Amino acid sequence: MKVGIVGAGFVGATAAYAMVMEGVGSEIVLVDRNADLAAAQAQDIIHATPFAHPLIVRAGGYGDLAGARVVVLSAGVNQQPGETRLQLLARNAAVFAEVVPEVLAAAPDTILLVATNPVDVMTWIAQRQSGLPPERVIGTGTILDTARFRSLLSTALGIAPQSVHAYVLGEHGDSEVLHWSGARAGTVPVSTFAAQTGRRIGEAERAEIDEGVRRAAYRIISGKGATYYGIGAGIAEITHAILRDGRAVMTTSIVTPEIVGIRDVALSLPRVVGATGITATLWPDLDPAETDALAASARILREAVDGVEGG
Ligand code: NAD
Repeated sequence: MKVGIVGAGFVGATAAYAMVMEGVGSEIVLVDRNADLAAAQAQDIIHATPFAHPLIVRAGGYGDLAGARVVVLSAGVNQQPGETRLQLLARNAAVFAEVVPEVLAAAPDTILLVATNPVDVMTWIAQRQSGLPPERVIGTGTILDTARFRSLLSTALGIAPQSVHAYVLGEHGDSEVLHWSGARAGTVPVSTFAAQTGRRIGEAERAEIDEGVRRAAYRIISGKGATYYGIGAGIAEITHAILRDGRAVMTTSIVTPEIVGIRDVALSLPRVVGATGITATLWPDLDPAETDALAASARILREAVDGVEGG
């Protein structure tokens, strides 16, 4: 099964590497405006296949995406230190105007998996540009923030991140909503688990975890210039769920008719990912503060989209 990746920079190449390590699909085609970079990345990654899974990894042009079940869109410019994801918007919208028609001309039946930031707005733009049904234009959304939330909670609780069920909703960005009221360790609320095991998840611990999730990208970018390992693994995981019809629940972003009164906006909720894309959305039980925060997040994204429509 073929997977295309347009944008073979840090994120695209790391996603390809994660797919090789996990055995996702059988062939990966890397496309980049910088053809030398795509070729170099493909060579470097294929040298990992003897240690992992025997995928074909090659560089190519858009025509080589024919038959791809999933095409990852990770082309664009990266967030600069101190820059918000929304500030990237105009620059990356222009990149998608060029890339999306080329991808669809070669692979009209594909599922688009958008990673480029600001990812929710770019997902909305890609859905409009492509004309594909929303369930086939999937933004990675808060999959990374959810992973950060689970990982920090797992450390605080002393259990495996796989046993922490906690989601980040809304924008992949400053207005994201940590769904604390639904966070579970195994089957019990995280505060119950903490009390049962002599750990503490009080106000101070919550604030620290919230900050750790919400500010992670800023801290990583100021330290090393970009984030890519977490999102690379997340892209591989979503792609895997599509290729094997995994029906996995992941916080992903698609254009949604209405979110807490805000119409036509792309943001993350827990959604079921399978062979045809997003097959269902789970509407979590939110407390009033979380509902307000999700509405505020949706409003920010709607305003960003209004800017695109107006501009
Ligand atoms: P990068 O600069 O390393 O890679 C981007 C690549 O896109 C470059 O190789 C560039 O040549 C290519 N490109 C640019 N314009 C193109 C075009 N018109 N056609 C084909 N290729 C083109 O950047 P990166 O670190 O890989 O980040 C890529 C995107 O992913 C950024 O927008 C970044 O903010 C985003 N990102 C998203 C998440 C997430 O959680 N969704 C996490 C990290 C980064």
